[in-house]
Amino acid sequence: MDQDSAAAAFAALSREPIRTGTDYIDSLRGRKLRVYLMGDAVVEPVDHPIIRPSINAVAETYDLAIENPEVASVMSPLTGERINRFLHIATSPTELVMQNKMQRRLGQLTGTCFQRCVGMDALNALHSVTYDLDQKYGTGYHSRFNAFLGRIQRENVVIGGAMTDVKGDRGKSPSEQADPDLFVRVTKRTKQGVYISGAKAHQTGCLNSHWLIVMPTMRLDVGDKDYAIVGAVPVDAEGITYIYGRQSCDTRSAEDGSIDAGNARFSGQEAMIVFEDVFVPLEHVFMDGEVEFASSLVERFTCYHRRSYVCKTGVGDVLIGAAATIADYNGVERASHIRDKLVEMTHLNETIYGAGIAASHQGTGMKSGACLPDEMLANVCKHHVTRLPYEIGRLAQDLAGGLMVTLPSERELRHETIGPIIEKYLKGRPEIATEDRIRILRLLENMTLGRNAVGYLTESMHGAGSPQAQRIQIARSMQIEFKKELAKSLAGISSASLAEIENDLSTYMARVFAPVRN
Ligand code: SF4
Ligand code: FE
Repeated sequence: MDQDSAAAAFAALSREPIRTGTDYIDSLRGRKLRVYLMGDAVVEPVDHPIIRPSINAVAETYDLAIENPEVASVMSPLTGERINRFLHIATSPTELVMQNKMQRRLGQLTGTCFQRCVGMDALNALHSVTYDLDQKYGTGYHSRFNAFLGRIQRENVVIGGAMTDVKGDRGKSPSEQADPDLFVRVTKRTKQGVYISGAKAHQTGCLNSHWLIVMPTMRLDVGDKDYAIVGAVPVDAEGITYIYGRQSCDTRSAEDGSIDAGNARFSGQEAMIVFEDVFVPLEHVFMDGEVEFASSLVERFTCYHRRSYVCKTGVGDVLIGAAATIADYNGVERASHIRDKLVEMTHLNETIYGAGIAASHQGTGMKSGACLPDEMLANVCKHHVTRLPYEIGRLAQDLAGGLMVTLPSERELRHETIGPIIEKYLKGRPEIATEDRIRILRLLENMTLGRNAVGYLTESMHGAGSPQAQRIQIARSMQIEFKKELAKSLAGISSASLAEIENDLSTYMARVFAPVRN
């Protein structure tokens, strides 16, 4: 970034930097948002009992940066100051790995989706895509992007990366849809900027963000020019409506007491975002009409995001801990089959982490200076995530026992007549309070069937692309011809030398054998 654009970015500073989780929560108050939840317009999301736990989860990303700056903050080459890691462009494999370590820690602290990685991964992908766009077309997107980046780093705000369109008929391209709004598109262009309409589906943490970066969701053709739009809009821009997604057992968060919610403090958040002629000023437009770059953006974003799913290993740590705790409370922790199930859960959890962190370790530098994780390993990581948390969840339920889904409510526990009966008959080991046993069972329910199963299971399946999307990427990079040559050479079918075979190396294998750098 040159000095002029850095100066411009700082001149645009419009809010005091947010420091703590409490500052962050305060920063969300008083916005003019149009939000619907269960048929009602929500006046202040911050105070809504169903929404608040998701805000608390994002607040942890601020507090961690203060409590553990090495993990969750970093020096920004753009501002020369220490900034939250979620707003940093990783320039080395080490910095990608540190993103993963931060994600695992936050998963451990919240037991849910802390929502901030979509923005981080969008910023990282856009850094190299806007650079490449400018190289090809001399468009100036990269300096605009850097000006925006400097500003948000300084202000320490939350960015939501909005990619997934509602998509309509999956067999048709955006411009072929019966309704043109089924993918977000430009409806009007003026000298000052563009207007966009359409909807983004199940957008993680959108209400808890300060800005949304809208991006195309898939490869586009020449006829889809109006759909090749990337732009940043404030979440409370005129013309945006949020329709909040229900989560399993979400109304428990609105009940009295803290037991039945399972994890009363934290949850994830998804909502549908509807854009009706929302204005995006030119300074916040980072792509407009360059259809051939849509696929690079989607591929790079998913490459970052699919290895970001090591977040689930932090959540898995909590679930394994909950399963071990209930075994302990039941007096069976030392039984060999219980130990074995805990070992299996750990093995599965670390398998996800291993693939994710390896994807980061094997990152490669882009021309813009950003570092991109290894595509093959990022896809393998996310593909594990579509399956292994289900097995970890199954084992957790195995250890929990049926009581997990048949427990009476907290009201019965507190009831004058029924409470003592519950105390007596739901006791495990005598030295463990019945209430504690109930609490850990409710947490297990929360993570495998309730609010946080949204993030731990189904979101693991479909977030950052459903399983088939990863299989397509893995198929593209698996270099089966190269592997056949290896086999033929050893079987004496082909006499090609290893040197000749290696000449064919491209993509994934080339990275496997590339020297390690930091
Ligand atoms: Fe981050 Fe995981 Fe939530 Fe995605 S699902 S935003 S990677 S915590
Ligand atoms: Fe996600």
